[in-house]
Amino acid sequence: MDKTILYLLYYDIFYYFMHRLLHTKMFYLIHKIHHKKQIPDYFDFYNVDIVEIPITSVGLGVALYLHEIYVYQLLCSILIINVRGVMAHETNCVFLLGDHHLDHHKYIYCNYGEYWLDYIFDTARGRQARINQE
Ligand SMILES: [Zn+2]
Ligand SMILES: [Zn+2]
Repeated sequence: MDKTILYLLYYDIFYYFMHRLLHTKMFYLIHKIHHKKQIPDYFDFYNVDIVEIPITSVGLGVALYLHEIYVYQLLCSILIINVRGVMAHETNCVFLLGDHHLDHHKYIYCNYGEYWLDYIFDTARGRQARINQE
């Protein structure tokens, strides 16, 4: 598997669980600053408590610990994480990435990570309602 994809997988999976943890009563204090605006813009990707950056990047650390380090692929994955994160917070980018993360800002207790993870763990917005209709 390409290391860039591998690093992204680790990042996304850990990010999902860390983000869910940040929405618990005990840790929401750290994450609250990121949810100041219901309709964020691109720069709000970086509008986080300084503690949140290492917490949500644990997955990359685990990937580097368990697998070989390829600097170019690591830099590519970090670039993708940043560009994707910025775009996920910008309403003008909905046509490219959808509104999955924008809905997280609007409804808070859903859409914690990438769509496929929210789908698997049943936290995608509206999924529960769709399941009940089937
Ligand atoms: Zn959040
Ligand atoms: Zn956000």
